[in-house]
Amino acid sequence: MNCFDCQALDTATAAVAICRSCGAGLCDRHAHPHPQALHRAAGMGTATRRHAARRLLCETCAVAERSD
Ligand SMILES: [Zn+2]
Ligand SMILES: [Zn+2]
Repeated sequence: MNCFDCQALDTATAAVAICRSCGAGLCDRHAHPHPQALHRAAGMGTATRRHAARRLLCETCAVAERSD
């Protein structure tokens, strides 16, 4: 599989990741890692786990998540 964003630029680059949101293949230049806090049930509420997980997004989805 090739990077979807590179394909749009008429370049073929092997994908090393997949956007978690839209499923597009991504090369290392187009993959945007985001930390993701994980929660677990604790007593009456939830607690945030000490370590954040990783989420990889494409440029489009990363921008969309930051927009209003
Ligand atoms: Zn790319
Ligand atoms: Zn995406």
